Amino acid sequence: MGFDLDKITRENVKGLKPYSSARDEYVSDGSSMVFLDANENPYNNGVNRYPDPQQRNLKSVLANQKEIQIENLLLGNGSDEVLDLLFRAFCEPGADNVITLPPTYGMYKVLADINTIDNREVLLTDDFQPNVGEILEMVDARTKMMFICSPNNPTANSFDSERIVTLLEDFDGLVVVDEAYIDFSNKASWVSRLSEFPNLVVTQTLSKAYGMAGIRLGICIASKEIITILNKIKPPYNVNELTQSHALRRVSDMPRIKSEVREIIEQKELLLKVLPQIEFIKEIYPSDANFLLVKVDDADKRYSELLGLGVVVRNRSSQPLCNNTLRLTIGTKDENIKLVTALKSLTK
Ligand SMILES: *Cc1c(COP(=O)(O)O)cnc(C)c1O
Repeated sequence: MGFDLDKITRENVKGLKPYSSARDEYVSDGSSMVFLDANENPYNNGVNRYPDPQQRNLKSVLANQKEIQIENLLLGNGSDEVLDLLFRAFCEPGADNVITLPPTYGMYKVLADINTIDNREVLLTDDFQPNVGEILEMVDARTKMMFICSPNNPTANSFDSERIVTLLEDFDGLVVVDEAYIDFSNKASWVSRLSEFPNLVVTQTLSKAYGMAGIRLGICIASKEIITILNKIKPPYNVNELTQSHALRRVSDMPRIKSEVREIIEQKELLLKVLPQIEFIKEIYPSDANFLLVKVDDADKRYSELLGLGVVVRNRSSQPLCNNTLRLTIGTKDENIKLVTALKSLTK
């Protein structure tokens, strides 16, 4: 027993060498070279050159902020690409399986299905925590990864860290902790414990707290060995120039991002005070994220009533353990006032 990266890597991936692009073979040192190596159009318009396949500038700022090495980082076209790369590197189609913990983020199952990987589901407990005993019972020799979303979407809570530690210690595959909402939480990121657990993979994103869902930038943080494997299979130019330059500009202004996050959290606190006054809201679940999951009397009815008043929320009733729930993203102050006004105007 014990985690063995070589053992869980797909045979064909072990033999691969990363595709070597023109921009990999010659890296500019800033001197005035003439670039005639990539069949680009030479006339400068800001994007006529291929982007840096290793996103060095952006990675160096991110690595600094997250107190890790550049070699611990892989960037992708959203977390969705990062998660897909994990499937393609470690899961043999038609043979391997992964474990997910519904109710949770839907993309894990979508990616498992696309990659012909058996998705073994172990329901969260009634208080939305991983059922560690059942999860470990579900593991067999072909279980390669489990997906732990904390803070979890759509339940909004963080998972107990002792439970995650048990999974990291007792499971010999990859434990992927999806931290899309970590910046809204006061819990420590698992990135700080990377050196303790060789099978820990943390994913983050610029789509939520960082306010850049539109540019598609996902982050994978793991051991250098795991990142090396993912680099073998990533498309060479998976993060385009506009995304790299825009992300670099915005992550260099952390005070602004942090003040937006503070404002969102303050707005959430306000909603937590006001929403209990709405009679048909039966329960508001604890939230470590930028959204609230609420249980109402009749989610389908309330969802369409809100739509009629110009407020779009997410009906999560189809998810297990989430009967009659709505997921409310925290908006701006004005948007939240509109939500509350709409909710108050609805009759019991
Ligand atoms: C929103 C979200 C993401 C973000 O995905 P991107 O592809 O990076 O936009 C990842 N995981 C969870 C759980 C999310 O809710």
